[in-house]
Amino acid sequence: MSTEDTERLPAALRTEALEQLLTERGLVDPTVMDKFITNYETNVGPLNGAKVVAKAWTDPDYRQRLLSDGTAAIKELGFAGPQGEHIVVVENTETTHNVVVCTLCSCYPWPVLGLPPSWYKDPAYRARVVKEPRKVLSEMGLDLAEDVRITVRDSSSEVRWLVLPERPAGTESLGEEDLVPLVTRDAMVGVAKVMAP
Ligand code: FE
Repeated sequence: MSTEDTERLPAALRTEALEQLLTERGLVDPTVMDKFITNYETNVGPLNGAKVVAKAWTDPDYRQRLLSDGTAAIKELGFAGPQGEHIVVVENTETTHNVVVCTLCSCYPWPVLGLPPSWYKDPAYRARVVKEPRKVLSEMGLDLAEDVRITVRDSSSEVRWLVLPERPAGTESLGEEDLVPLVTRDAMVGVAKVMAP
């Protein structure tokens, strides 16, 4: 079977076949695997990323460090691990919008966002967001003004992108702790904005 054929099989089916094979050969323990997945879905989820963003919003020096070396600045908060070896952080502003995709598969910064949502792995999202980002974002509920420049960032095994969303107006009086719950996974992928409470 060529790589292309394998790509066409639904991801869930491929994963199941792979897990079964590895289990049969005694290479993985399904209980350990379940624990690993649960850990990434709950503990290592987007809350880590939200903490990074809230700190960057309230600490200008940290924001600078985050934008110049994402991996190192994220590690300062204790977040590191698989798929987090080379994270590059880009900032969304009033005039510039970044949105992240992995056109090839589903590369994603696990230490700060956990496991990718299913739409991120969807071939339609991966193909279309590159060609017509404004339209795809609008379909996902994010309407950007015509004069906002959109840049699509393609994550890969080399670079995993993380969006530093724009801090919403009306949150000036909020501290770091209060800002954390406002930051969503989708905003850090760039398919949504952070809303004031
Ligand atoms: Fe990928």
